[in-house]
Amino acid sequence: VFNFIAGVTILALGLLFLAVSVLDMVDDLRHQARSDAGTGLLNRRGFESCALKAIDKAKADNQSLSLIVCDIDRFKSVNDIYGHSAGDLVLRSVADVLESSVRKGDRVGRIGGEEFAILLSATDVEIAAALAQAMCLSIEMQNFPAVVSNHKVTASFGVAALEENDTYQSLFERADMALYKAKDCGRNRVVIESDKYVLSEAFIKRSTVRGAFA
Ligand code: GH3
Ligand code: MG
Ligand code: MG
Repeated sequence: VFNFIAGVTILALGLLFLAVSVLDMVDDLRHQARSDAGTGLLNRRGFESCALKAIDKAKADNQSLSLIVCDIDRFKSVNDIYGHSAGDLVLRSVADVLESSVRKGDRVGRIGGEEFAILLSATDVEIAAALAQAMCLSIEMQNFPAVVSNHKVTASFGVAALEENDTYQSLFERADMALYKAKDCGRNRVVIESDKYVLSEAFIKRSTVRGAFA
């Protein structure tokens, strides 16, 4: 009887160990499926899944939510001049700047080659734009060891705030349109989705460090 109980206990412990290992592996795989290996940020899929949940929650709680999209300016020239590996290092540094600029619960993702998105819960468009402006300046000021010091790496930003009937898609499209406008207006700047928000003059003065709002 003793041998039988000992055998069953060992078997049960073995199965438990196996189950824990399998759960760990599943967790790792799930994490890998949502992360971008190059920067450690969420990848497009991971970011979208977080965004869908955050949008549902913001609507249910009647809270504000803003989305920033960011694209490195003339990034192709970094690859062309310094090589692809240098480009990869720049991408990682930009990702670090973005991630270190947000609060713990905010989400930062790499949603394309040199494109990033930042989701800010309980944040209205003016605060989001001010944060984007700070990120824009940090990138401009950053020293990137992978490129020569007089080669300024910059990025452009588009900002949009969630509206009642928004889906992730429609919110993203408005932020992306603002980003395109930022590119059109000369890059290295922040543009807020147009015609829905009239910025107060005080805010414009405070934020327009280099005429950054179009
Ligand atoms: P714009 O200011 O209009 O955004 O110009 P751009 O050069 O940044 O944009 P474009 O779309 O012409 O080029 C993007 C470049 O990003 C081309 C591509 O080789 C590079 N890229 C995309 N993903 C990676 C990556 O993972 N590593 C490196 N090193 N380069 C990448
Ligand atoms: Mg670009
Ligand atoms: Mg791009």
